[in-house]
Amino acid sequence: MPTIKTRFAPSPTGDLHIGGLRTALYNYLFAKKNNGKFILRIEDTDRARFKEGSVETILTGLKWVGIKADGKIVYQSSRTDIYKKYAEQLTAENKAYRCFCSVEILNKIREEQVKKGNPAKYDRRCLELSKEEIEEKIKKNNPYVVRLIIPDGKTKFKDLIRENVEFNNKEIDDQVLLKSDGYPTYHLANVIDDHLMKISHVIRAEEWLPSTPKHIILYEYFGWKPPEFAHIPMVLAPDKSKLSKRHGAMGVLEFKNQGYLPEAIINFLAFLGWNPGDNREIFSMQELIEEFSIDKVQKGGAIFNMEKLNWINGQYIRRLDTDKLVELCIPYLKKTKLITTKINKEYVEKIVVLQKDRLKKVSDIIEFSDFFFKEKMEYDKDLLKWKNMDDRELKNILEKISEIFSGVPEKDFTKEKLEPILKSEAAKVGDNGKVFWPLRVALSGKKASPGPLEIAEILGKEMCTRRLKMAIKQI
Ligand code: GLU
Repeated sequence: MPTIKTRFAPSPTGDLHIGGLRTALYNYLFAKKNNGKFILRIEDTDRARFKEGSVETILTGLKWVGIKADGKIVYQSSRTDIYKKYAEQLTAENKAYRCFCSVEILNKIREEQVKKGNPAKYDRRCLELSKEEIEEKIKKNNPYVVRLIIPDGKTKFKDLIRENVEFNNKEIDDQVLLKSDGYPTYHLANVIDDHLMKISHVIRAEEWLPSTPKHIILYEYFGWKPPEFAHIPMVLAPDKSKLSKRHGAMGVLEFKNQGYLPEAIINFLAFLGWNPGDNREIFSMQELIEEFSIDKVQKGGAIFNMEKLNWINGQYIRRLDTDKLVELCIPYLKKTKLITTKINKEYVEKIVVLQKDRLKKVSDIIEFSDFFFKEKMEYDKDLLKWKNMDDRELKNILEKISEIFSGVPEKDFTKEKLEPILKSEAAKVGDNGKVFWPLRVALSGKKASPGPLEIAEILGKEMCTRRLKMAIKQI
């Protein structure tokens, strides 16, 4: 069997987005599953759209999730001579032609075509130029592009996901292959490189499907065998609209900053358009490599569901070693200035263990645990009240708890020891909520938090006493 070789071929025009990373992942999984190779090719020939720093974000993003390319990274911008040579070959063989039309003329042609109700295509006027006219223009240094001659008829191909695909060539414009700056367009460079690099499978987003007939025509003109194509479904927002920033279409590194784990991102992305055909949901990269297959990739759009991502991320957080999670949480606590002095690792560890099951992203540690680090908390005093408690009853209870706490020796200030004492107090007032709710709010300042005694044990006797005092003072 010939070697399977795939490639991820991003254009460095911005951040690496979640859709781009999914394309990289599918190519990677398919290659690895088939003992093949996975190539990274930077398609940087569009100098107008090139964005400084973009290559770095692509490389950092791939590295972060553990997608490693085989061999050296290929930069198309260093291969312009190759593309030029092939463009010349096509021109010499009358499969392409030079077009000298200015942007103004092209706009006018397009307008006229649209007015006539035709597709907004180039009208091929430069195809009529005589050899002499062309030579004259070249001599005068008139800028030109090289355009592909789209033949009459239909272009058909078999897509591994979409099956038989057919395009009417009438709808296809004579594609520019080489621009006036000497750089190739995506179409030319992409086909040449896929051929020269012996790419066996092109797995890319569905948005590239209309480009494929142009590529097939190029393969035919060159006399090359085209690779297999698999156009993977678009990633859509929950309302089936195009995924926008509002729905989570952020750069991959932004997910990292927000406290998503790379394993969770990979697991989630794999399921954006693919599933193993049963109800298993948690897959490591290795398991994905073993299970992945193109024929289980769906045709219809894949919905980006942030809640699902949060759930998967939570699953991976629970699987982390406490040490590792502490290490991941500390930068967030530092960044928000909740930790300003020397870190008390033991203290942070206790908090992390307590919160682990509630975290959906590592950064949630800030919102869930700020009260462990703050000296003063701000909350509405009415939050201290359980149901219809009045001020007097509330104050009495908090004073009673305070008194109880002062009688407990420091070494016994644990959930285990405190629980029976407070429970018997609650039995006296006839309602657990009347004791535990005000205590929990006094210690955390929050509507929702872990249980009061877990918090009390971590905060310690002295801090708890101070917080109770502060609460009483507010009433
Ligand atoms: N450079 C194209 C992109 O930015 C590659 C498309 C393809 O895979 O052919 O996505």
